[in-house]
Amino acid sequence: MIDVLVIGGGNAALCAALMAREAGASVLLLEAAPREWRGGNSQHTRNLRCMHDGPQDVLVDAYPEEEFWQDLLKVTGGITDEKLARIAIRASATCRDWMRKHGVNFQPPLSGALHVARTNAFFMGGGKALVNAYYRSAESMGVQIRYNAPVDSLELDGDRFVAARIGDERIPARACVLAAGGFESNLQWLREAWGQNERGEWPADNFLIRGTRFNQGVLLRFMMDAGADVVGDPSQSHCVAIDARAPLYDGGICTRIDCVSLGIVVNRDAERFYDEGEDFWPKRYAIWGRLTAMQPGQIAYSIIDAKAIGRFMPPVFPGIKADTLPELARKLELDEQRFMHTVNTFNAACRVGTFDHTTLDDCRTEGLTPPKTHWARPIDKPPFYGYAVRPGITFTYLGLKVNEHAAVHFGGKPSGNLFVAGEMMAGNVLGKGYTAGVGMTIGTAFGRIAGTQAALAARRQREGA
Ligand SMILES: Cc1cc2nc3c(=O)[nH]c(=O)nc-3n(C[C@H](O)[C@H](O)[C@H](O)COP(=O)(O)OP(=O)(O)OC[C@H]3O[C@@H](n4cnc5c(N)ncnc54)[C@H](O)[C@@H]3O)c2cc1C
Repeated sequence: MIDVLVIGGGNAALCAALMAREAGASVLLLEAAPREWRGGNSQHTRNLRCMHDGPQDVLVDAYPEEEFWQDLLKVTGGITDEKLARIAIRASATCRDWMRKHGVNFQPPLSGALHVARTNAFFMGGGKALVNAYYRSAESMGVQIRYNAPVDSLELDGDRFVAARIGDERIPARACVLAAGGFESNLQWLREAWGQNERGEWPADNFLIRGTRFNQGVLLRFMMDAGADVVGDPSQSHCVAIDARAPLYDGGICTRIDCVSLGIVVNRDAERFYDEGEDFWPKRYAIWGRLTAMQPGQIAYSIIDAKAIGRFMPPVFPGIKADTLPELARKLELDEQRFMHTVNTFNAACRVGTFDHTTLDDCRTEGLTPPKTHWARPIDKPPFYGYAVRPGITFTYLGLKVNEHAAVHFGGKPSGNLFVAGEMMAGNVLGKGYTAGVGMTIGTAFGRIAGTQAALAARRQREGA
């Protein structure tokens, strides 16, 4: 019998598999996706958030534990488990040496990234290269890997793992790590979680999924039905505004629209609905998916003029371009009169000081609701550009409750041989909100813990037997 069964094929699963193998366990990893689509959402990532007390290779200055913790506290509004959060934060100080050992390389941030040179270490070649390096290392260490292996249920004996099932096939193991992602790819579940709004719309019908199609939440649902303790709100997720032309799945990073703070955003009725300049973009980009989800038809339009060009990461599809604002309204199929009223009112309310996109500058509106509190400059220099945006779900936060050993809980009691890592438990740390790079921080920390603990549980069982 195999010692440790790892279910999932992304960052958390691979970290668990590598650690369990390093601890001497025999390991089998089951990835639902075919080989060419392996790596889940992790293949789309770019960086991980790291604490550090002084400059470290690709990281500048310092990002101490307390500052990281305060950032997390702020974005989650306190809906976080401090003990688990600090475990992930502290692990981020030292995990990069281990990652390098398994072939992951780092690079300074590219220009146009979210101003995170101090806080985030970028993977050379992105998440795809990270995932490929881990698979290579796992194979060379003797981890068995199976693709096209979607586990549909587990066999449990009370709170203990016994076996996983793929159809009629039964795969027993001494211990198991669940790392099969959230339920963000499951359109029906998203529909149920978001429900129907006051306009009678089902908002989730207009969502796009930024990452993998394989995170259907099958095992999350199974564990919930089996009585495992759960954390998180099913409607909470990381959700950003992405190009409405993006594919339903796997559009990845290049479909994100990053020019919001440089212009205005209007809804289908050509009305503004939120302060586009509330704070630095890295601290605000993750609220615009949800804001768009609240608008009629779950669509919005990010509008800029020529002054914004060159100041944001250009997305994969070019914006709709026009020489005049009325022409832009027509091309975006917005009511021309209402659009012109919104832009003219905004332009008249701008009190331009010294524009500086790298500080919370003094360019703001006066007497306008909602206000634009920074970087407010009239939209008046042709050509003009508009991007239609939709809510793009990155990952959901509903997950399984864990302790510091990443053990799954039943009725408040930790399982002795069933562990969970990554998106399937990120909700313990992320009750809501997001700060860039923390998904990989959580997955790496708890993936490694889960792998070590699973190897230990397997050894105990082997010795006990
Ligand atoms: C476009 C995009 C960009 C992102 N950028 C960043 C970033 O730069 N930094 C950051 O920290 N986070 C980023 N994230 C979030 C990050 O991807 C996740 O937090 C992290 O990858 C989660 O890792 P994971 O291993 O839990 O899940 P995943 O990497 O999604 O892996 C889940 C795995 O489980 C498999 N699976 C699912 N169901 C089953 C089943 N029933 N049986 C077997 N296998 C199954 C899937 O095929 C997949 O391989 C980004 C996400 C997206 C979509």
